[in-house]
Amino acid sequence: MRNIRLTLLAAAVSMAVNVEAAEDTLQNQALLMMQETAAEAETEASSEDGEEEKEKTMAEKLEEKTAFPGLFDVYRDSEDGSGLVVVTDDMLNKPFLYMAHTVNGALDAGHFKGGYRDGKLIEFRKYFDRIDVVALNPRYYFDPENAISKAADANISEAVLLSTKIDMNEDGKYAISLSDLVLNENIHKVSPWPNPAADKNSKSYKLGKFQDSKSRILEINNFPANTDMIVEYVFEDSNPKNFGNNELADPRYVSVQLQHSFVELPENNFKPRRDDPRVGYFLQQFDDMTSDRTANYRDVINRWHLEKKDPSAKVSDPVKPITWWIENTTPVEWRDTIRDATLAWNTAFEKAGISNAIEVKIQPDDADWTADDIRYNVLRWTSSPRPPFGGYGPSIANPYTGEIIAADIMLEYTFMKGRWIQANFLSDGYSESELGHFEQEDLHCSLGHAMNGNLLFAQATAMANGMGDIEKDKMLKQTMYYLILHEVGHTLGLNHNMRATQLHSNDVVHDESVTKGILAGSVMDYPSVNYAPPGKTQGDFYTDKPGPYDDWVIEYGYSVGLADAEEEEKRLEAILSRSTDPALAFGNDADDMRAPGRHIDPRVNIFDMSGDAVEYAKDRFALIRDTWGKMTEKALNPGDSYNDLVVGVNAVFTELSRQANVTSRYIGGVYVDRAMVGQDGASKPFTPTPAVTQKTAMSSLRDNLFAPDAFDGMQPLYDLMQKQRRSFNNFGKNEDPRIHEMVLKAQQAVLSHIMHKNTVERIVDTELYGNEYPLEVVFADLTDAIFEDDSKGSVNSFRQNLQVAYVNRLLNMSGLEAKSAYPTFAQAVATYELEQIEDALNTSRGDKATKIHRNFLQRRINSAFHKSKS
Ligand SMILES: [Zn+2]
Repeated sequence: MRNIRLTLLAAAVSMAVNVEAAEDTLQNQALLMMQETAAEAETEASSEDGEEEKEKTMAEKLEEKTAFPGLFDVYRDSEDGSGLVVVTDDMLNKPFLYMAHTVNGALDAGHFKGGYRDGKLIEFRKYFDRIDVVALNPRYYFDPENAISKAADANISEAVLLSTKIDMNEDGKYAISLSDLVLNENIHKVSPWPNPAADKNSKSYKLGKFQDSKSRILEINNFPANTDMIVEYVFEDSNPKNFGNNELADPRYVSVQLQHSFVELPENNFKPRRDDPRVGYFLQQFDDMTSDRTANYRDVINRWHLEKKDPSAKVSDPVKPITWWIENTTPVEWRDTIRDATLAWNTAFEKAGISNAIEVKIQPDDADWTADDIRYNVLRWTSSPRPPFGGYGPSIANPYTGEIIAADIMLEYTFMKGRWIQANFLSDGYSESELGHFEQEDLHCSLGHAMNGNLLFAQATAMANGMGDIEKDKMLKQTMYYLILHEVGHTLGLNHNMRATQLHSNDVVHDESVTKGILAGSVMDYPSVNYAPPGKTQGDFYTDKPGPYDDWVIEYGYSVGLADAEEEEKRLEAILSRSTDPALAFGNDADDMRAPGRHIDPRVNIFDMSGDAVEYAKDRFALIRDTWGKMTEKALNPGDSYNDLVVGVNAVFTELSRQANVTSRYIGGVYVDRAMVGQDGASKPFTPTPAVTQKTAMSSLRDNLFAPDAFDGMQPLYDLMQKQRRSFNNFGKNEDPRIHEMVLKAQQAVLSHIMHKNTVERIVDTELYGNEYPLEVVFADLTDAIFEDDSKGSVNSFRQNLQVAYVNRLLNMSGLEAKSAYPTFAQAVATYELEQIEDALNTSRGDKATKIHRNFLQRRINSAFHKSKS
């Protein structure tokens, strides 16, 4: 035993010595080479040690290591794992695209599998005996004809990301340390940027310190056009205050596997195409510093390099199609749907003059390549515990030209299952407006979340209403189909179009003979599931082919351009001038009204459907009322727990809340038109929502969200809403459903919008240019909606909560108790409404609880008036 230990120790020591010697040799390479040039040293070496000890060439030294040939050749020592990256002379001072994406990572650390995090242009530059990696800033354009271009570098900063000593060099090849390049946060910040709000909150999870001794380079994947290195970053916090989520094996350590990719920029005859506010492409932004226009944008759209094989033909196959591979991990039963949905985009390209633009292949089970090879565009398949996005469709584009170089789509199977993704239910006090309005960066797509909510709602409703298996299969298939269409759309360069679901009128949207698989102008929206209301036959649940907007933007982005710049501009403008066609309406995440008080055009929203979303929502409320009563009967099976019922009730209630939010946005809304001056069919840029629509929205909210009987249908469900117990997971939480809180949160979400400072200010502003639903009428109607129906009798507990919440908001708006941020007229309106309410409270009708409630409200209002007078 003792001997074995000693032998092992000896082996370890000798290995350590060898490693040290090797490192020493490498580090002193430059010095040794200098010594070699000295004649004495040379003589000494040859006379004392003979031919064998002659200094090895760089090539010979590298030969002893494991080689990873590719864009940047990488060599790794098989004993100590140390590595060298070779940069050649022709790679210096030349831009490369650098990308970082998370291969695997805990959400608590701000990383999710497959998430692209960073993309920038970098250059390797030689500075004496060092190689610098510099981040470029290509954003600013200077017309070379203009004298100002001589001052192009003024105040525009490059960033030296790292500088490392050249380890060896020979024949225009420079070897630098692999760890210096990627085993740190120099090129990419892996840990989250400081977030003062979250950092102050002692409850939120915090990532520990980067541990370079525990971090390591896991993989080197080298290909002709890209060199990828996967690094495992370990962060440590020995005393974490928050233990994070279940994905962390030990809350003290978080590891993130991040891939660094160095990508060669293509050299070809690709011509950038300008962006335009009327179409929704992802883009590369450039500011023209020598232009005198106020909008000095030279932005170019992201698009693939598709050329016609036969340029003279009206429609031609491409020289090189966009090839998608279905990853071999994809369940066989889903492959046809995924292929068909991807190929469905070909109809749009055909209208733009390119046939068979997209082809789909299946990755063979014995394929010798992986999705990491940038030459392959892969539809990938994963299943994570807590997926943040449902199908993430990023594309990698050349930052100079917008040419899309590669794309992958990550499909989260979880979203296709009847599993509730959110950790909390509305009946637990969870609020969609708190967690559900996923703030988005450009490239993020939360469609999976949206579709999961839709699917659960539709499944619960289908169960209650006894929908047949054929219809249910159609629903599931159309859900997946839509998800693929949408995510492939992103990889073609398209961003969201949250206005697209306005295409059909509410009268025909359920009629399959009219919709024919196209429910919206675009597949790039987050639609409501088009479930038929009572009395209507079920039509399409979702769109299953690109819509008119999609065809149009593909024509703009992909139709072959003309050589002459002026002619080309005329051609593009002719396409763009069709933007006033209602079928081509567009508005993206930057315009949508999902969050209270945000943005102005109610037609640009998520979860809405049809050109009359207020009427559509009314039908949905009717469906929900009809569904509640049937749920106890259909969702409960002898021998099962009540879990399915809880999930169903929460999904249906979430849908009710979503439709109430959609409806509320029409009050004080403004319709936006982005047509250019003088464009045919254009309306003015801003048109207030017609008063009749605003009033319909108000009365629908009154009937379906505020009315005393709005939630009567749920009555039989309250004492059945029990989640299935799991070990001690309920510890510290009360498991009874928080029904009042659930209802009040949905009502508060709507009040948050209607009474938002932005909305109130806009109602007053728009009265200057056509709004016929003035502020004093909006608030009179709102007060009626909340107080009138039970003014002559008892006030039930839901209404009591609602009335108190409304009065509190009026007090806040009025400035009676504390300084108000609202415009003075809004303060006056709030004060007037409080007086009306105070008067109406003077009644002796109702039960004892009602008297107590009214007494409370009266005292609340009185004391505020009293305070303001003193
Ligand atoms: Zn999306």
